[in-house]
Amino acid sequence: MLKAVRGFKDVLPEDMPYWHLLGEEARSLFESYGYREIRIPVLEKLELFQRGIGSTTDIVEKEMYVFEDKGGELLALRPEATACIARAFIEHRLDLKHTTNKYYFFGPMFRHERPQAGRLRQFHQLNVEAFGVRSPSMDAEVMAMLYTLARKLHIEDAVSLEINHIGCAKCRPIYREILINYLAGQKDKLCKDCKRRLERNPLRILDCKNETCKEIALNAPRIMDHLCDECRRYFEETLDFLSVCDVPFVINPLIVRGLDYYTGTVFELTTTELGAQNAVAAGGRYDNLIEELGGPSVPGIGFAVGAERTVALMRKRMKLEEKKPTFFFAVLDAEAKRFIIPVVLSLREKKIRCEMEHEEKSLKSQMRKANKLGAKYTVMVGEDELKKGKVTVRNMKDKNQFEMEPSVENFLRLVEENP
Ligand code: ATP
Ligand code: MG
Repeated sequence: MLKAVRGFKDVLPEDMPYWHLLGEEARSLFESYGYREIRIPVLEKLELFQRGIGSTTDIVEKEMYVFEDKGGELLALRPEATACIARAFIEHRLDLKHTTNKYYFFGPMFRHERPQAGRLRQFHQLNVEAFGVRSPSMDAEVMAMLYTLARKLHIEDAVSLEINHIGCAKCRPIYREILINYLAGQKDKLCKDCKRRLERNPLRILDCKNETCKEIALNAPRIMDHLCDECRRYFEETLDFLSVCDVPFVINPLIVRGLDYYTGTVFELTTTELGAQNAVAAGGRYDNLIEELGGPSVPGIGFAVGAERTVALMRKRMKLEEKKPTFFFAVLDAEAKRFIIPVVLSLREKKIRCEMEHEEKSLKSQMRKANKLGAKYTVMVGEDELKKGKVTVRNMKDKNQFEMEPSVENFLRLVEENP
């Protein structure tokens, strides 16, 4: 049997109510904050991610789907969206075209990781990026928006907003040295990956999932104690604005994020309900990214919500079902079909879900089918009805049955009476 590729998953219709709710709530919320939708391609030049995400990050070092196309160009399936949206921002000179530059995006990402519960090779992210503003109230607003999304999806008590500040070009290098000094003393105990990270990307060790490394990280010097005055003030003001926005948060000095472009404010929305995968959403400030990609010197902040993990949490909190048909038309024969089809089409045009039997089946078996489908009403068009030019309508819940003229208005009245 042919199966989907490992780590790539179908989303079946019965799952869609959760995906739709997530998409609809996100869209209306983001738009109320002034974000506009952008769509970016699935493929980009490999160089974008090498330069944007950083060549010593897990994503670039080992998780990307890279290939050479027939023209010999090195391409990658996008592993994340921020670098792509930044590329679009630069390419279209959006900074010159718009007074505010706030964008959102929803789509699949691709990472060659070990597939397991909550970890796929194709997964979906909701992304939000705001370019051009650097201010503690902006950072708080972005996190407030993320938290509000969790509230709208009724998962706010399953998640916690963890926040940290990773310094600037002035204070981070000093902290980096202090951290290397501490970690070098424990080098033997670090995992293979972290031994490598020690020289190249020591902050990432704080984020390692290996148990021994986690313990070492817990006792490591904290960046909070080494922030310069400006960063400290920025961080304190951000926390203050978060309180003004009434957003609960915890400070977690171990949040450093696995992508190189982050500066200053970083945050994650975490959960304890999804086993080993505890990050539902993550983001932060990236004030140098646009410039590093060859654009103007424009700061930015954003986040990415993992859709599959969010849907998993939603499922634990609520039961959503697909919409059922309002009318099931049980038709005796071709003549009955000809009689009723125009009405069925008109009702569908009015967004009313109708099913009609196409195969030749007894009215009794059609009734059973209507029941199975969960239709509100079965509309019978049999011999008697055809003679009278009427239909018999059966309310499937109270089993009440009556005759009526099959006019669109009559059907619409039923919908109104029984929404
Ligand atoms: P993790 O620590 O779980 O590997 P990450 O730091 O690599 O996450 P980000 O790049 O920040 O993740 O992506 C943002 C969100 O996208 C994550 O919080 C998570 O919800 C989701 N995500 C990331 N990788 C995967 C994956 N392989 N499968 C499903 N969801 C994912
Ligand atoms: Mg990862």
